[in-house]
Amino acid sequence: MRLSQLFGRTLREDPAEAEASSHRLLLRGAFFRQVMAGVYTTMPLGLRTMRKVEAIVREEMDASGAQELRMPIVLPAEPWKTTGRYEAYGDTLFKLQDRHGRELILGPTQEEVAAALVAAEFTSYRDLPVNIYQVEWKYRDEYRPRFGLLRVREFLMKDAYTFDRDEEGMVASYDVMMQAYKRVFDRCGLSYAIVEADPGTIGGGVNHEFMAHSDVGEDLYVSCSNGDYLADTEAARPRPPEPVAQDGLEPMTKINTPDAATIDAVSAQLGRPASEMLKNVLFDAGGRTVAVLIAGDREVNETKLERRFFPTPVRRFEDADFAKRGYVKGYVGPHGFGEDVIVIADHSIAAGKNWVTGANEVDHHVTGANEGRDFRVDEVADMVQIREGDPCPVCGQPLRIERSIVVGHIYQLGTRYSEPLGSTFIDQEGSPRPLWMGSHGIGISRIVAAVVEQRHDEHGIVWPRALAPYEVCVVIATRDHEVAVAEAERIYRELAERGVEVVIDDREESAGVKFADADLVGYPVQVVVGKRGVEGGTVDLKLRATGERSHAPLAGASRSAVDLLGSAP
Ligand SMILES: [Zn+2]
Repeated sequence: MRLSQLFGRTLREDPAEAEASSHRLLLRGAFFRQVMAGVYTTMPLGLRTMRKVEAIVREEMDASGAQELRMPIVLPAEPWKTTGRYEAYGDTLFKLQDRHGRELILGPTQEEVAAALVAAEFTSYRDLPVNIYQVEWKYRDEYRPRFGLLRVREFLMKDAYTFDRDEEGMVASYDVMMQAYKRVFDRCGLSYAIVEADPGTIGGGVNHEFMAHSDVGEDLYVSCSNGDYLADTEAARPRPPEPVAQDGLEPMTKINTPDAATIDAVSAQLGRPASEMLKNVLFDAGGRTVAVLIAGDREVNETKLERRFFPTPVRRFEDADFAKRGYVKGYVGPHGFGEDVIVIADHSIAAGKNWVTGANEVDHHVTGANEGRDFRVDEVADMVQIREGDPCPVCGQPLRIERSIVVGHIYQLGTRYSEPLGSTFIDQEGSPRPLWMGSHGIGISRIVAAVVEQRHDEHGIVWPRALAPYEVCVVIATRDHEVAVAEAERIYRELAERGVEVVIDDREESAGVKFADADLVGYPVQVVVGKRGVEGGTVDLKLRATGERSHAPLAGASRSAVDLLGSAP
């Protein structure tokens, strides 16, 4: 490829809209161009890198026994309603109608299609297991697309669906995917953690996320310094605090707390820490009132609560709910809950006594509230939002919160989809049974952005060789020197003949611009052919990853470049 002919122009300045390094550098390097918020054109350089990621994914999927097919992007809405996901996805789902008024969606993932397809095609236990996958564009109507390729409305994904006879088979298929995913991310040169995660709107049980470390990542996870615990912050469970002896109980006493409708206000008024307050957070779960009791200095993790009631939707009380159901907002106390309320206490409640809590009366609280004597608890559960420094559930050491970009997610779905959809097979006894399913995604376009987040410097992108759009850039540093131009052309030809993916920068630009662009685009090896070098019989070589420069004899330049490329990470 001649850079004088390459479609796309590098940008001298940082685009104003770019928040993340990957966004900035991928735009500046002409890998992508924005069409509208969250929707991008993939330019020739970007497409080459994207295809390399796809090729790695395909190789590892094929090697694991998965079979590629292609499912449509435009899908009927009905199966999504059957599985409850039409509602669960909400506005994030791209919805449309055809001319007959039929409701359609643009697929964000394809569990419904895959489950119906396999059940129709493979009817016997003898046909199983099977793993099908595709590499296809996916859609999400993100409320606020941002960070370039990290939160977009259209993205390229590999999604695989495994189908087994039973749970044991599903777990075995899951383990095969886990190993294949590790190889994919290792080959892409990513630094990542494999983290226990929350199933979110996909549903199901055991699942893991592959989280690429990144300061701009919006996906948080906790890790123990001992290396024995990793979890998504939504799924993370801190070690429950030690219960305290329930002796020395004070009588429950009503006190006047004017204008103290928040934990902070009560805490300030009484001069007692928030951790001594008992907070009652009210929710509606399918029409029932749910109270989560938690220490005043902690927050409720609503994802945990949603999981407890799944698939019943759970929402926090709004102002109208308090009035309608007879609660005084800001002054709710657990001793006021009737039998109709489901009272769930977080572990933090067992670690305290003589609580300060609401008196169910405006401007009043009680002190000395104690579980059992003054209020009841129906369930004790982990409902807390994890925070930095919480004890590790395995060893008790403090947990750290890390930022990352999720590049892959694997799920054990069980029969979550096959049961509502009626996707069954006939077992050995001749009875129909639901398929045991797994779902496994890799964000191809996300990998591209995550790799750039991890591998760049102040000059530009530092591609690993496996993903670089081209491996070597031959720079003609002195355009008006005939011998230098001829030698550069020769080296370019020789490299192409050796099977190297090579570009020649033959543009009518200054040497400085060419050097800057070569660094920006991030070719692993640069070969610089200039007047002074040629007259001395040498070329300059540069390894982008280390910035290390060396000379090579002009005659053997292409071989030296190939050798250097061999040492590129
Ligand atoms: Zn630990």
